[in-house]
Amino acid sequence: MSEIVEEIRTAYAPIGIALDAPVTYGTYYRLRCARCGTMVGNVGDKLLPGMIQTLLEEQFDLYAAGLLGCACGHQAERARALNPARAEAARTRFA
Ligand SMILES: [Zn+2]
Repeated sequence: MSEIVEEIRTAYAPIGIALDAPVTYGTYYRLRCARCGTMVGNVGDKLLPGMIQTLLEEQFDLYAAGLLGCACGHQAERARALNPARAEAARTRFA
């Protein structure tokens, strides 16, 4: 497991997303809902150190509002647990 893949895995964990096996060998990894296992996207491993944190920081409101993530609502719940005020503001803004 490369350092960047480990960084990506660690960055996605708090929002309730798990990294799965590579789709294309060592290039793209499936993202799955950590609660129900539904595939929620892919992520490439060509990111530079620190980029995944920036990306997830920018996507936080979309996860909080349920516009990104699994239909089961796990990522929206995680966003509410991580930052209740920001999650509530995002839900209001995107409602
Ligand atoms: Zn789910």
